[in-house]
Amino acid sequence: MLESVLIDTSEHSCCAHHHDHHDLVIDQLYVQYRDITALQDISLNTSCGNRVALVGPNGAGKSTLLKAIAGLVKKSKGTISWRGTQIKKWSKEFAYLPQREEVDWDFPITVRGLVEMGRYPQLGMWKHFAKKDTEAVDKALESLDLVDLQHRQIKQLSGGQQQRAFLARAIAQEAHVLLLDEPFTGLDRPSSETLADLLQKLALEGRLIIASHHDMATVKIHFNQVLLVNKSSHGFGTCDELITEDKLSATFAH
Ligand code: ATP
Repeated sequence: MLESVLIDTSEHSCCAHHHDHHDLVIDQLYVQYRDITALQDISLNTSCGNRVALVGPNGAGKSTLLKAIAGLVKKSKGTISWRGTQIKKWSKEFAYLPQREEVDWDFPITVRGLVEMGRYPQLGMWKHFAKKDTEAVDKALESLDLVDLQHRQIKQLSGGQQQRAFLARAIAQEAHVLLLDEPFTGLDRPSSETLADLLQKLALEGRLIIASHHDMATVKIHFNQVLLVNKSSHGFGTCDELITEDKLSATFAH
């Protein structure tokens, strides 16, 4: 009994509130679009608390990898596991944020409406918002400093505010793994710095952040681990080990 009080054994206990280390393990992953091989033989092993950059040239398969982890594209070979089992079981714990140009910013939805969407996978069988859902939305809006903007349409936001609105949706969802497609692209410097601080905070709370990233000058600042990818892997490890001139030019060479 005492154990169940001290240790939250519920399925959705968040690593953010505990100190367990949930591992994400990708083993020999292949993804194929008809006759195009987008990813071949990708393996990596990371865990909660890390910020992982996906670095490689255009068309290297970075978006494909994020989508494969999110369960949005089918893998043709290999395994992706989280907490020791196939990711399918844990889809609620993954939040995917598409590239900005893939989002229909004219879609008539307010910031609050967008953040509420994060609760949809969590709603009970009656599909209505309970107090805890409203509270989760309020908390997410507060933590991303969006309370004053909550009734705006998403298209009436700056790029940085739009990123924060999507992050708030992921927080409301109680996602543990954030999969971000080029989150820094198009942001001015102050917004980039705000976003970088936020991602660091989210990782410190125990979430796993995985993001494609193009700016080599900031990769070591914003991330601690990196996968160098150009269809196949050119190395996975710490930024200090892998963000070197030699390794980057080998990755970008083909
Ligand atoms: P970028 O940095 O330009 O966004 P990326 O590294 O994210 O590129 P992907 O978008 O994952 O790369 O694309 C990897 C490869 O798969 C490319 O050759 C691309 O043309 C191809 N590809 C991506 N999506 C599809 C699709 N839906 N159907 C067919 N081929 C695709």
